Amino acid sequence: QDLFQSPDYLQLDDLLTEEHKMIRDAVRNYVKQEISPIIEEYAQKAEFPRQIVKQMGELGVFGPTIPAEYGGGGLDYISYGLMMQELERGDSGVRSTASVQGSLVMFPIYEYGNEEQRKKYLPKLGSGEWLGCFGLTEPNHGSNPAGMLTNFKDAGDHVILNGAKMWISNAPFADIAVVWAKNEEGVVHGLVVERGMEGFSTPTTHGKWSLRASATGELVFDNVKVPKANILPNVKGMRGPLSCLTKARFGIAWGTVGAAMDCYDTALRYAKERVQFDRPIAGFQLQQKKLAEMITEISKAQLLNWRVAVLMNEGKVTPAQVSMAKRNGCEVAHNVCRDARQMLGGMGITGEYSVMRHMMNLESVITYEGTHDIHLLITGMDVTGLNAFS
Ligand code: FAD
Repeated sequence: QDLFQSPDYLQLDDLLTEEHKMIRDAVRNYVKQEISPIIEEYAQKAEFPRQIVKQMGELGVFGPTIPAEYGGGGLDYISYGLMMQELERGDSGVRSTASVQGSLVMFPIYEYGNEEQRKKYLPKLGSGEWLGCFGLTEPNHGSNPAGMLTNFKDAGDHVILNGAKMWISNAPFADIAVVWAKNEEGVVHGLVVERGMEGFSTPTTHGKWSLRASATGELVFDNVKVPKANILPNVKGMRGPLSCLTKARFGIAWGTVGAAMDCYDTALRYAKERVQFDRPIAGFQLQQKKLAEMITEISKAQLLNWRVAVLMNEGKVTPAQVSMAKRNGCEVAHNVCRDARQMLGGMGITGEYSVMRHMMNLESVITYEGTHDIHLLITGMDVTGLNAFS
């Protein structure tokens, strides 16, 4: 099957450099060769394909915007976006692994860590030798993470960490966790917690119908002794985790368009081949409406993402602009995948095609890193100056 005839209805390739196209094609080929052939099976058995972590490190999708001397790629945000788009064509869980590793683990260590921490962790994370996770959400604090209860107390050369995080991507296999917790004054700090520290456990979350090829778990801290050397020294308050989320949400905005592209490609090909009433179903107006709307929305989302990436490269982007792109990407992909699934009829509910898997995955993507509602409220607050959250 000739996978991934990328839709480029508005000739957006003209906006890309030769390097961007090379990077995009390299990740696209990787996904074709290594992800697409195996991912359905892993999703069906709800298992994370651990072997891909090393492969993705070699490919350079972990921390692509972090300088090369620290194990990143030293690339711009369009390159990063294109990588996430191509990974999520394969599977949202695979893209999630890259988003977490690059934007939620490597970025805070690079941006807020000291030189020792950068040298200790970043090269191993960039190469995929180590896998990281990001602990912000708690059982009783999801959309309002500032209310977190996880806390640490001073105990000489180390601190004692207590609390629990929930819904943490990569947690069951992670070698390290960047954890956000409050000190005795109630100020949020980032700590690097390492697997093997006494009192630290990572139970797996079972029974998910979404993001099944990505491992999710809890982080439980029972009087964990964390050396003070593991506290990220250069940030305090919610600015720390929120700045990480802005980077990751940017990648999600591009990634979701990748999932939408895969569903559009699949539906278009299927509609041209599937004959009912002696005609390909692509010839019926109802099916053409779906396809026409899909390609229109995909093209609009590509343009939005491209513009946000340019603003990000210029250091001018606002978190609210990234929220708009994340929310839009999720909405477009959600609608495209649902329509594509219907166009495939009964075949659309099987693992023979990728659309149902994408559709189920997007239920997580539309929820994590700020729910659809929360991103709408961020835009609402940005344009009115009035906070409707609380
Ligand atoms: P809640 O905050 O309880 O929200 C429930 C509903 O109420 C939502 O519809 C929400 O939009 C709505 N709502 C909440 N507040 C308001 C308001 N003020 N106004 C209007 N409506 C409101 N977290 C991490 O820290 N690290 C991870 O790696 C990670 N990975 C994840 C992976 C998966 C598969 C999933 C599902 C989640 C992951 N999360 C992770 C957690 C995710 O970020 C949270 O689930 C998300 O922020 C929502 O929090 P919640 O589930 O507690 O929902």
